Parts: sequence; structure tokens; C-alpha cells
Amino acid sequence: MQNWRSELNRLLALLFIAGSIGLFLGQVSLTMLIALCCYFLFNIYQLRRFNQWLSRDSSQSNSEPPESIGLWGDIFDGIYRLQKQERRASSYLENIINKAQESSAALEIAVVMINKNNNLDWWNLASEKLLGLKYPKDKNQSVTNLIRDPRFAEYFHNENYTETLVIDGPGESNKILDFQIALFGEHERLMIVRDITQLHRLEVMRKDFVGNVSHELATPITVIKGYLEAILDNMGDLDSRWRKPVEQMCQQSLRMENIVRDLLMLSSLETNTLPKQQDQVNLQQLFSEIESDTRQMFTSKEHNFESHCDIQTIITCKRNELYSAISNLVVNAAKYTPSGGCIKLSAFPTDDVFNIVVEDNGMGIEEHHIPRLTERFYRVDSSRSSETGGTGLGLAIVKHILARHDAKLEIESVYSEGSRFICKLPLERASLSNEENNSIPQPSNNSESPDQSST
Ligand code: ADP
Repeated sequence: MQNWRSELNRLLALLFIAGSIGLFLGQVSLTMLIALCCYFLFNIYQLRRFNQWLSRDSSQSNSEPPESIGLWGDIFDGIYRLQKQERRASSYLENIINKAQESSAALEIAVVMINKNNNLDWWNLASEKLLGLKYPKDKNQSVTNLIRDPRFAEYFHNENYTETLVIDGPGESNKILDFQIALFGEHERLMIVRDITQLHRLEVMRKDFVGNVSHELATPITVIKGYLEAILDNMGDLDSRWRKPVEQMCQQSLRMENIVRDLLMLSSLETNTLPKQQDQVNLQQLFSEIESDTRQMFTSKEHNFESHCDIQTIITCKRNELYSAISNLVVNAAKYTPSGGCIKLSAFPTDDVFNIVVEDNGMGIEEHHIPRLTERFYRVDSSRSSETGGTGLGLAIVKHILARHDAKLEIESVYSEGSRFICKLPLERASLSNEENNSIPQPSNNSESPDQSST
């Protein structure tokens, strides 16, 4: 504003001088016109200098603006200052981008940016090694054309990136890659790919080792246990001092046999994929079978069993695996619930899952143990567990079986009041055997099935 005023003052002063000279010469209009023309020509000249300075070539990009006076001087200085600020900001940004590129080039993991049209935008050096991308040939190519595994296309388009995807690397690389994608900006994606070949091999070795050791131990343990049982049966021929040690040996060999059996089961769950051909299992019949088998195992405890399940409920699954999962939960309930306690089995749909619940009013579990219960060999109280013949593998087996059936295990418990183990299966796995109505009824607000039968 200040500059404008002084420029205006300058113009008025020029006109005043021109007017005075005009008065003196008797040619006011002419001198005023000459003065205005001079002012106009001066401004045209400044504009030309300004234009020349702006269109200087890049080698002179740092050159200072032309010297000038008044408003033009201020304009030149202002623009020069702004240019300097912008240059500083862009060199700062350039520096950051260079550092980010250098550090990502040094990374062992592949980082790929994918634009909203699903085309490759940018990638680091490791991507060329892991995914075989080539610059500039693959720039703007569709990512699903370059990574052709159908599992990748499904993972990419599903947009559910909470879990990573593990697949074989492209080409002949024999690599096992772990893909993780994050959405950002305007539906752009950042894809991170790790080479987990080594880890995968170690995991395979671990599984093989556990499977082989368990397999090799199974026969000797069965033989030892058989002989010990035979000795116990013929105890009359032996010195009575041997009774207790032989009984203990027999008990421990039974425990070893159980551990080996559970390890073999876990190993087979880990190595074999769930067959496509599955069974149609009547859940209520399965409940009755498990209840009767558990009763036989714990005859002295006289538990009260309750079962609530629609007699027509059919579960699509591997029958022996579902039996094993529910039976593990029911046997645990029986093990950790005192005589006369109540064990309840129920099945009902809620919002988007089908629930199979095993509850007891036994000793319960303290809250801090609950998140770790499905870890292998995790026991709340190892002395209590070995008293009951527990292996610490039961819940790990349940978790594995459920995961193979796209299901989850939820555990709720109140110490010294009881526990509730809920298997949450996808609704599609449950149906009704009635042909006219072969889907599970819509969930009611009540957490229990509307149509329940009780045994
Ligand atoms: P275990 O063979 O020792 O029972 P599990 O993996 O089946 O091993 O169970 C892990 C631990 O969880 C057990 O040691 C036990 O302490 C606890 N647990 C499992 N089910 C129940 C239950 N119904 N009530 C109380 N504690 C339980």
C-alpha cells in the first residue's frame, strides 16, 4: 500500500512539474502528454526487463533481478525473495526424496507403489530382485499382469489387508514371498514384499522334526506301556514294594503316549490341507456321542450334562476333526469341573457366525492366562494338569482344527465360577437337514437357539 502511494505521489509530482513547465511555455496539454508518454515508456521498459529476467535460461536461474527504483524495484525484490524461498523448500523436499529413495534402495524388502488404476508407479531396487520388475518397461503396467498367481489377484482385489499373503515368487526363483498391502491417498496402494524362504524352510523342518520324532517315539512307548500294564496285571508274582513304582511308570507312559498322540495330531493338522470333500455332520448326534464318551471317561465324577441343539443342524466339516475339537473342550470341562458340576453344550447362530459353545461351572481360569491358553504346552497349573493327565496341547489342537474350518475359538472364564469356550464357525458351514428349509434361521436377539432340544 505504502509503495502504491509513493508511486502515485511520484506520478503526481511528474504531472505537476510537466504542468508547471507547460504553464511557463503556454503548452500545458502538450507537456502533460509528453510527461505521460515518458511515464508509459518507462513502465514498458521495466516490463521488458522483467520479462527478460523471468525468461532467463536455467543456467542463470540464480541471477539477481535487474536494479530498479520505486514500485518496480519492490516488485523485482519481492519476486526474487519468493523464488529464493521456493528454491529452498524444493531443495529440502528433493533432499528428503533422495534420502527416502536411497534408504529404500538399501532395503532387503521390496516396496512398490501402485496407483489408483492398479498400475505400478514406483518401486525400489529390491523389487527388481524379488519380483523381477524392470524399469522403465514395467512402469504403468497392471500389477496383476506382472504377478500372475490367482491367489495374489484375489488378495489384491478383496481389499481385506489385515493379514498377509504367502505365495511362491514369480518365475523360477523358488522363493517364498510374504505380501502385505496398505491403502493410502486416493485409493493408492503401498505393497511390501518380504522374502521368507529361509523362515519357511525352518518352519517346514520344525514341523517335519516334530512329526518324525513323535512318530518314532510312538512304537517304543506303546511297547513299554504294554509291558508295564502286563506287569501290573500280574502283580501277584512280584514283590509288593514294586507296586507303586510300576504304577507310576505306567501312569507316566500313558502321559507320554497322550503327548505323542497329540503331537502327531498337531503335526498332521499342520502338514495336510483340509480335503475339499467334507462330511455333513448332524451336530446333535455328535454332541450325544461326545457326551457319552466323556461320561465313560469320568464315571466317578457324575457331571450333569445338558445339550441344546436343533436336531436338524448339519455342519459341513471333517467329522473326525470336529469331533476332536468339541471332545477336547468337553473333556477339559469334565477334567476341570468338580464332581456333580454342570457341563452344557449348545449351538446357535448369531449375527454372522454359527456358535458351538461348551460351558462348565468348574474352577474357571484367571483372566491373565486366557490369551495364552491355546499356545502349545501352556498350562495354567502344571501340577493340576498332570494330575488330570493333561498334555497342554488340547486347546492348541482345537485352535488349529477351527482355523482349518475358517472358524475361531473364543474363551470366557471367571475364576472359581466356570468357563465358556465358543467355537465361531462361518454361517455357511451350518445348515438344517430339512430339505425345504436348508439354511440356518436368522439369529434371534436371545443368544440361544429358538428351537432347542435338550438331552
Ligand atoms: P491340558 O491338556 O493341560 O488340559 P489344554 O491345552 O487342553 O491342556 O488346556 C490348557 C490349560 O487350560 C489347562 O492346563 C487348564 O489349566 C486350562 N483349561 C482348559 N480348559 C479348562 C476348563 N474348562 N476349566 C478350567 N481350566 C481349563
